[in-house]
Amino acid sequence: MLPVSLALQKQSLKVLIVESDCNEGDLLSGILNSLAIKDVVRLSDYQNFKSSFSSIIPDLIILDVNSLCGTAEANIDWVRSDSIKPSIPILISANDQFEGVDQALKLGVNDWIKTPYSTPLVAVQVNNLIQRSLGLHLQDGFIALQAEVSQRNKIEQELHFQAHHEYHSRLPNRAYFQNVLATMLADSGSDNASEVIPIKTVVIFHLHQFNKINNTLGHSRADEILVEMALRFSKLSEKYDEVMPLQYGIYEPAGKIALLDRTHFTIILSNVRQWRTEEIIEQLLTQCSQPLQFQGMQIETPISVGFASSIIGDDVASWMRRAHVALEFAEQEKQLWAGYSEQADRYSKKKLTLVADLRNAIACSQGLFLHYQPQFNCQNGEISGVEVLLRWNHPVYGPLPADEIVALAEQTGLIEPLTHWVISHAFSQHQKVLSEGFDLTLSVNLSTLNLWQEHLLEDIAQQLEIYEIPPNRLILEVTETVLLKKPERSLEFLRCVTALGIRIALDDFGTGFSSLAYLKKMPVSELKIDRAFIQELCFSHEDQVIVKSIISMCQGLGIDVVAEGVENEETKSKLESLGCDRLQGYFLAKPLLGCDLLLRLAGEND
Ligand code: C2E
Ligand code: CA
Ligand code: CA
Repeated sequence: MLPVSLALQKQSLKVLIVESDCNEGDLLSGILNSLAIKDVVRLSDYQNFKSSFSSIIPDLIILDVNSLCGTAEANIDWVRSDSIKPSIPILISANDQFEGVDQALKLGVNDWIKTPYSTPLVAVQVNNLIQRSLGLHLQDGFIALQAEVSQRNKIEQELHFQAHHEYHSRLPNRAYFQNVLATMLADSGSDNASEVIPIKTVVIFHLHQFNKINNTLGHSRADEILVEMALRFSKLSEKYDEVMPLQYGIYEPAGKIALLDRTHFTIILSNVRQWRTEEIIEQLLTQCSQPLQFQGMQIETPISVGFASSIIGDDVASWMRRAHVALEFAEQEKQLWAGYSEQADRYSKKKLTLVADLRNAIACSQGLFLHYQPQFNCQNGEISGVEVLLRWNHPVYGPLPADEIVALAEQTGLIEPLTHWVISHAFSQHQKVLSEGFDLTLSVNLSTLNLWQEHLLEDIAQQLEIYEIPPNRLILEVTETVLLKKPERSLEFLRCVTALGIRIALDDFGTGFSSLAYLKKMPVSELKIDRAFIQELCFSHEDQVIVKSIISMCQGLGIDVVAEGVENEETKSKLESLGCDRLQGYFLAKPLLGCDLLLRLAGEND
């Protein structure tokens, strides 16, 4: 409960409220209760205002004028002229847009509270108003007045403190912390521009299982644990000179750690290079996430961390946002900590516009198109298939790399519609290829996320039927990473694919976690050796050994081998001599538009 002045406690005050918004009304009553004002009568409109007023004769009225402007005016007028208590203090509540404040003050309203209500502000305003109005009735000698003033200052200080500190731990809270950052940014902005701006890094520690503690032990015990954790963090952070003291406004330096909310602690590192940041974080993490002994129990408090450094032209909101993005990334990737990186930021400004544009592009096929890169059969040198590659020519950023588009779609839930778009357009083109008498396979890249999608297979089967493509002419390319997350589900998907007669290629082989064990498990009919092993093939003995053994291993398993990234004649000959089945690369054919592919096929046939 907020501290209250003696005057307030002694009087049993009655307050009449008219508030049309139920939630705001609850909030206001709560604030009054916290000021020890228990006798609150609430109305949601002005219908019974006069009768309620006459029956309780309140000590204060608070009137909502947002939506009830005209009626409020008439009633204020009535109170001031006709009622039993015309000098009663009146507060009106209205939002920022309310334009009648001057008019209301002229009518005799004492003050204006802004909605939505802010607890400390309303408390101070109500308290001051009541004290002022009581002061009129009290024998206010000099001493009494002084006592009131000092009491009021105390209340204001306490309210200010409460507004800037977490209640249980008394650590600086989010508002305090953001003020510290704002002051720091303002100071660095006024620095001499030629000086090097010292790097400051916000580090957020998240107790990511604290809700479990809440649920099992209850709120009040969880609060005690939180205080223990706060002590632990405070003590440890004191050990590091690089952790900045959090000094702001009227307050004494408040230690070095803030509590943003019940589960996020935060510190600022000053002038520290990345490696040292990581070192400090690791040390704090190790010590802070030690199990906690609490009432005979051992409590686990796992922690994850995100951090972000300030940049030129920064503001508090975007700095904090970047630190939260890093934290979210760490948690998604099941890492203990992560620093902010633009690539992993699915909310960055450019990304936000790109996401909206990509969604549009998928919906109206604007700027999106497909390339087809031929694959050649080593036996006869003929084109045996094509791989479809996504292209997006963005109206502002120009052509964007395919893997960037795919990553963006993966992070923002657009991968399903994007894959659907690719499949339907590629199938439509492939129907033309087949109907012209070119019996080619069509390879389509799938994202790992596609494999966990509900209806992808149904969609594919349906489209195969619509475009009259035999299932064995379709090859779906996946990477080994599909088996790392949700391996059972992914394998199930792959088995269903092969049951339909569709083939599967293992893409980018050699770059991931390539192992025979995986290969045996997966129903794969083709393996694509990543171009990293192909491009230096003629010069690198090591690459030759690797490629040779991949080929002989696949021959044993009955799997076709495709080499990617063939860029010259020598590499082509080498791969042929090693027994590779098919080749793909700029030397043989660049990715082509559908119409150009048809021309090339026709030309090859001549
Ligand atoms: P990827 O599946 O490994 O595709 C082969 C990439 O190598 C393509 O890059 C292709 O243009 C490039 N390439 C082909 N021959 C050569 C060569 O001789 N030398 C070099 N240096 N590069 C060559 P691209 O088109 O930029 O695509 C990059 C990646 O984006 C693809 O790698 C694939 O993982 C992904 N991707 C492309 N289209 C799609 C799609 O429709 N869906 C999904 N999920 N991923 C796609
Ligand atoms: Ca591929
Ligand atoms: Ca590849």
